[in-house]
Amino acid sequence: MSTLRFKVVEEAFKREATPITVPKEFPSEYFGKYVFNRIKMSKYLSKDTMSIVIQAIDEGVTLPRSISDHVAAGMKMWAMEMGATHYTHWFQPLTEGTAEKHDSFIEYVNGSPLDSEILERFSGKLLAQQEPDASSFPSGGIRNTFEARGYTAWDPSSPAFIVEDTLCIPTVFISYTGEALDYKTPLLKSISAIDKAAVEVCKLFDPNVKKVYSFLGWEQEFFLVDQALYSARPDLMLTDRTLMGHESAKNQQLEDHYFGAIPPRVVSFMRELEFEAYRYGIPIKTRHNEVAPNQFEFAPIYGETNLAVDQNLLVMSLMKKIANKHNFRLLLHEKPFEGINGSGKHCNWSLGTNTGVGLFTPGKTPDENLQFITFIVNAMMAVYKHNGLLKASIASATNSHRLGANEAPPAIISVFMGTQISAVLDKIEDTSQNDTITMDALKRMKLGVAHVPEVLVDNTDRNRTSPFAFTGNRFEFRAVGSSANCSAAMLVLNSILASQLTSFSKEIVEKISEGMSKEQAIFDTLRSYIKESKSIRFDGNGYSDEWKDEALERGLDCETSVPLIYDAYTSPASIEMFRNVGVLNSTELYARNEVKWEVYTKKIQIESRVLGDLSINHIIPVATKYQSALLDNLYKMKMVFDKSLAADLSKEDASLIEEIATHISVIKRDVDAMVEARKVANKIEDTREKAIAYHDTVEPYFNVIRYHVDKLELVVDNEIWPLPKYRELLFIN
Ligand code: ADP
Ligand code: MG
Repeated sequence: MSTLRFKVVEEAFKREATPITVPKEFPSEYFGKYVFNRIKMSKYLSKDTMSIVIQAIDEGVTLPRSISDHVAAGMKMWAMEMGATHYTHWFQPLTEGTAEKHDSFIEYVNGSPLDSEILERFSGKLLAQQEPDASSFPSGGIRNTFEARGYTAWDPSSPAFIVEDTLCIPTVFISYTGEALDYKTPLLKSISAIDKAAVEVCKLFDPNVKKVYSFLGWEQEFFLVDQALYSARPDLMLTDRTLMGHESAKNQQLEDHYFGAIPPRVVSFMRELEFEAYRYGIPIKTRHNEVAPNQFEFAPIYGETNLAVDQNLLVMSLMKKIANKHNFRLLLHEKPFEGINGSGKHCNWSLGTNTGVGLFTPGKTPDENLQFITFIVNAMMAVYKHNGLLKASIASATNSHRLGANEAPPAIISVFMGTQISAVLDKIEDTSQNDTITMDALKRMKLGVAHVPEVLVDNTDRNRTSPFAFTGNRFEFRAVGSSANCSAAMLVLNSILASQLTSFSKEIVEKISEGMSKEQAIFDTLRSYIKESKSIRFDGNGYSDEWKDEALERGLDCETSVPLIYDAYTSPASIEMFRNVGVLNSTELYARNEVKWEVYTKKIQIESRVLGDLSINHIIPVATKYQSALLDNLYKMKMVFDKSLAADLSKEDASLIEEIATHISVIKRDVDAMVEARKVANKIEDTREKAIAYHDTVEPYFNVIRYHVDKLELVVDNEIWPLPKYRELLFIN
């Protein structure tokens, strides 16, 4: 009898909701309590210092060194009052999550090791810069020189905060030679690139626009599993997903989980998470059950992209921590369970001006509408030109299990505009300069500046199968994976649009200088973009097989092998685009791909090892045991009954024995072959080639081995099956 499995199932089943402490105040009273935000700054910094910091934040200028001592002093005072004893630069290396190295505030009074008295000190120098040993962080070869140092430097645009006893200072992480070793550096550059390029275009419509912000609203999906059950699944513990396990008879067919009543244990977890998030100034707005059993989602009110990314990373780590307190383990993997939906992180993306106008929001005046159309057409054009790159930005070993499965968009990027916007675009495309557009659906129409009807936001329809959908006032990028740092996708979106808007501006200036009116120039250019980018627009069912064929015909990037998808980062078009907008240079792009290939290889390698171990050491011994019991029974039947009767009575047993033997031998054979394939792949030096070998020759064994293990699960005695089954893992009581 599998004692461990039954023990953990019992333990999980008995579990009740963990009690939580509900704050006495309203969220509005403790919102941002742990954050050194503008309110705290105004209390702890002098007026002069404060105004320089605010300027640095608002205008993206570097903070003068002279001021950093003052800021550090104020920050330290606040942090110590909050109980902090340590500080850390908090940065986002190219691995997952965030990195931190804590130092305490203590120093000897006179700085001499012969002193015996200490005090708490935190200087401007420590605030502004740290030099962590970068050699353990992936750099893709950038640091393969003698110089292994990396620098972290404070990014004042996202505020410092306190986690437990530590003051965390969000920083960028760069190499000694100045190349980005993180996600934040290029994200910040892309934010200022889109600001510059978009302001230029906005000025065609409104000279008062001084700044354009990039906004992000993420929707974080995740799974929860009871911690006892989790601990009996080595695959979950080591790879964050189940590498085997037969589908449960009931999973999501009845669609009874989505938006259903949240189980009490989960409500308790969610409430505690929300209380914490509010203290960190993270405005979590939405929580609900997702489609799959045990799957849930959190989403905040959207915000400025850099801050929203930091907040997402913070929430990801808070969620894990708080889930543990509630005896759960939180899975951020994109596809922890076969046969049911996986988890994504929809990134809702928009642009807004300092004058309060949403650039993807249909306006009230014809002028605003022309601006709106200008921005969405340019966005469409940018995605059309760089669809392969945009896909590369979300590609990973883990997300590849989700893309192309029945709940997630395929590994093809297309844009859904909705019938109404599509109609407008078609009209613009069809009409010559002097025609007017009549749109029956809209009843009324503002002609004003050149034919743009007033579009009504609430009329946008939804197409859940599109990876990149216009949803009324923003684009929803649905292909992003749940475990990803959203920066990767956001910096590509901001960069490609910045680059596109720059060429647009140039075209307009040229056309005007040739004597065209401004409106005419804009219309002319948009019309040509609409024509050129047509193949990116797809309003049909993105999950269908026909779409794959059609997309290929349209010339969209249809590559499905993750290591090859990454090549899009270093295509001539991408290198040029990134250089033009000043976000990443080619050294950085190549280096970052090295890291991606390496991570890909390692993930597949780990999964392959765990799969081999589970198959050989957990599954086969149990299957063999059951097989011998059947054989034993068969043998005894022969002794008791006469030969032909015994043969007749044990027919089923005999074929079951044969079936089990076949599965066992296929599993053994394939695990051996997989190990051999790994050995061959491991000899390859080149990181890209190695990743390709892992993809082409190691990974294909996973499904075959799994298939046979799952078949065994169906026939082997339930009493001795060692791993918690899907039906036990997936339904929180
Ligand atoms: P859905 O119906 O897509 O699941 P949700 O309410 O779960 O919607 O999430 C929508 C997300 O989009 C939220 O984070 C919300 O704040 C964000 N959002 C709304 N408007 C914008 C906008 N203009 N720009 C960026 N994000 C936005
Ligand atoms: Mg949602």
